[in-house]
Amino acid sequence: MKKLNCIFGPIPSRRLGRSLGISPIPKKVCNYSCIYCQLGRTTQMTNTRKEFFPVDDIISELSEYLKYTDDFDVISIVGEGEPTLYLNLDLLIEKIKLLTNKPIAIITNGALLSDLYVQNALSKADIVLPSIDGYNEEIYKKVDRPYGTLKFNDEIDGLIEFAKKFKGEIWLEIMLMKGINSSKKDIDEFAKLIEKIPHDRVYINTPVRPPAENFVEVATSDEINYAVEKLNGISIDKLTSGSFFSEIPDSYDAILNLIKRHPMTQFEIQSLLASRREENIDSFFTKLANDNNVNSINYKGIITYRLK
Ligand code: SF4
Repeated sequence: MKKLNCIFGPIPSRRLGRSLGISPIPKKVCNYSCIYCQLGRTTQMTNTRKEFFPVDDIISELSEYLKYTDDFDVISIVGEGEPTLYLNLDLLIEKIKLLTNKPIAIITNGALLSDLYVQNALSKADIVLPSIDGYNEEIYKKVDRPYGTLKFNDEIDGLIEFAKKFKGEIWLEIMLMKGINSSKKDIDEFAKLIEKIPHDRVYINTPVRPPAENFVEVATSDEINYAVEKLNGISIDKLTSGSFFSEIPDSYDAILNLIKRHPMTQFEIQSLLASRREENIDSFFTKLANDNNVNSINYKGIITYRLK
C-alpha cells in the first residue's frame, strides 16, 4: 500500500468503536488552542478555511485503503487540528459516501457552526460530535483560547440552529477540568445550556492524556458522577476501548503515523507491537526515546508518546 498521509488507524475510540481516521488538516492547525489539547499548544492558529490537501488525494488514499480492508466501524473526520477548517469538507464527505456505506462522524470544536457553508458540509455526515467546554464567554475563552474574532454566543447559536435541522445524530462532549469548569455550579449552568441544544447523547470527559498546559487537572469522580446524573450523560471513563491498529507494514512507521494524530501510552504501544508479533519491543521504546521528533511525557506515572 502506498504511504498514507491523511488516513490513520483504525484507532480504538471509546465513543465510536474501531474508527478509521481521516485528517484533512495539517498538524496543529486550529482556531482554538485548548488548555487540555492532547496534541500540545496550537502552533498554527487560523480561522481561514482552506483546502489543505486536495480532496482527490485523500479519496485516492481511502480507495487504496479500502481495497485492503474495511474492518472498521466508522470513518471519523478528525485529527491534527479542527476539521471544519477544511474548505471542501462537503465534497470530501460526498466522495467518501461513494466509496463506503460506513457511517461518517465528524469531531469538531464547533467554532464555525454559525457558518452556513460549514453547516451544509456537516449536514452530510451521520454523526457530529461538537465539544462544549464552557457555558459562557469567560470560561470559553479561558479553556478554548479561541481565535480573536470567535464569540461564544455565535458558536452556541450556530450549534442550536444546526442541531434543529440536522437529520443525523448530535453527540455533545463536555471536557471537565477541576477548578475550571467542573463544580456543581458549573454543571448546573451546563445543564441550562444544553437544554437548548437538540442532541442525542452527552459524553462527559476529563483529560486522560497529557494536556497542553501543566495546570490542567482531571475532574474528581464526584464531579464526573454529578455531571453524568445532571446532564443525563455518559462518562467516557466508563467506556472500554479496543486496540490500536495500522496497516503500515513497518511497525515503527506505524507508531509514528498513529502518534502524529493520537498520543499513545506505553501500554498501548506495547499492545500494538505485541499484536504485530514484534519480538524486541524494548528496542522500539529506545528508538522512541532517542527520536528528536517524539515527545515522551510522564503524565500520572504513565509515559505517553506524541509527535512534536
Ligand atoms: S482540542 Fe481540538 S479544538 Fe482544541 S486545540 Fe486541540 S485540536 Fe484544536
